[in-house]
Amino acid sequence: MATVSFRGATRYYAGNDKPAVDGLDLDVADGEFLVLVGPSGCGKSTTLRMLAGLEGVDDGEIWIGDRNVTDMEPRARDIAMVFQNYALYPHMSVHENIAFHLKIAKMPKAERDQRVAEAAKLLDLEQYLERKPAKLSGGQRQRVAMGRAIVRQPQVFCMDEPLSNLDAKLRVQTRTQIASLQRRLGTTTIYVTHDQVEAMTMGDRVAVLRDGLLQQCDTPVGLFAKP
Ligand code: ADP
Ligand code: ADP
Repeated sequence: MATVSFRGATRYYAGNDKPAVDGLDLDVADGEFLVLVGPSGCGKSTTLRMLAGLEGVDDGEIWIGDRNVTDMEPRARDIAMVFQNYALYPHMSVHENIAFHLKIAKMPKAERDQRVAEAAKLLDLEQYLERKPAKLSGGQRQRVAMGRAIVRQPQVFCMDEPLSNLDAKLRVQTRTQIASLQRRLGTTTIYVTHDQVEAMTMGDRVAVLRDGLLQQCDTPVGLFAKP
């Protein structure tokens, strides 16, 4: 677990006159579930991608705990990402997908298998471990992507619209599961969505972005009180 701090973080894309993210100052507390919300194009994904090191930071700094990660390799940052499209490997089983990063990191098989077994139990995937992603429902695929993130026991989780491929009913159910899983694990989490209901129901705090600028950051109750 760790704090995350954006200090004036700015990202310009070539060909755009305005920055996609403009001088973002934001502190996420240790163990906090922060939701980053705003309309399409406001800079949510760019913010997450800068934090994960998938996108460069043109100005400002990003810190995780006491480490300035601004120029660190993605792998050195100890962040796990869950994407909208889950990015599962189609030729690998559920078990292999969940274990993927642990295998890359050369974790011994016994420990790897134990972590996968724990995640599968937590996410209700135990009976699907040998299946390929094509034979899973959308909700099961979403849980595999979560499993692949949690087995790494990262300092920070980043989730980019992880529910947007689920139907409305499953979205409500999964929203609750993700929030309660995060509370049990206590991992500092930044969750991106354009859905205001998700923002107001899932987060400890909600950061509202518009046109690359942070407009408000408060608890759901605080936001509701001063719209
Ligand atoms: P959001 O996640 O809130 O939809 P993004 O961070 O994806 O917003 O995009 C913020 C702005 O940056 C948008 O205006 C978008 O068009 C622009 N943008 C995003 N990615 C690129 C890119 N690779 N090249 C140029 N412009 C981009
Ligand atoms: P991370 O957690 O670092 O994002 P992923 O396993 O999601 O790791 O992806 C690692 C790389 O492999 C990324 O570049 C991703 O785009 C790519 N990738 C993910 N899924 C597939 C797939 N099914 N086939 C080919 N490449 C993939």
